[in-house]
Amino acid sequence: LGSRSVGHSPDEESGYNKNLFSIPKHYEEDLERVFIPHGLILDRTERLARDIMQDMGSHHIVALCVLKGGYKFFADLLDHIKALNQNGDKSVPVTVDFVRIKSYCNDSPAEKISFVGEELSTLNGKDNLFFYLFQDIIETGRTMKALLSKIKDKKPRMVKVVSLLVKRTGQSPVYRPDYTGFEIPDKFVVGYALDYNEYFRDLNVSTCKCSNLTRLSSL
Ligand code: 5GP
Repeated sequence: LGSRSVGHSPDEESGYNKNLFSIPKHYEEDLERVFIPHGLILDRTERLARDIMQDMGSHHIVALCVLKGGYKFFADLLDHIKALNQNGDKSVPVTVDFVRIKSYCNDSPAEKISFVGEELSTLNGKDNLFFYLFQDIIETGRTMKALLSKIKDKKPRMVKVVSLLVKRTGQSPVYRPDYTGFEIPDKFVVGYALDYNEYFRDLNVSTCKCSNLTRLSSL
């Protein structure tokens, strides 16, 4: 296990020496390098919030978080949108909702994408909804396409997809979200709520690529 690199990419050595950052002791030996530092994620998220607000119009929107991996990105981006709502010239009412999807087992895609728990029942009977969907990372786009087909049942007026990361897999066609935080090479990354078998969600500092994952079996 470890990284899921396919061949050599020019980005092979990108990132930073992990010793430059505060990594929790219990994860020190599992991580190779820090890939995108936490501060950089937050700065990019602030700008994404501005871009999204600019494009938004003034309709009431439903901000939908894809759990579990999307929760940090969602919370931080919504904080920026709230700040813009408080201090900007225009403001947009936002309802939040959550959907939980399981699409990975170890670091391999699951056979079938499964939705966990109740599915958007709070939105039943409402129409003319404007959706913004927030996901942690898009690889093949399978997860997002499955979610988009569920959302279609709600007969939305508009759906926009926002993903913190998009992986360059070399396969086409790759699904392109409306807003992307960073494009990354084909590596398995963790941290900032992205997990490996439920580990690393508590790694707040950064998104890292990992090595030596075999010791972390499922919780
Ligand atoms: P897709 O359906 O686009 O192929 O994969 C998206 C989902 O797979 C994400 O929501 C995430 O759960 C998982 N995933 C894909 N790549 C990675 C990765 O590098 N790290 C982690 N932690 N999860 C990933």
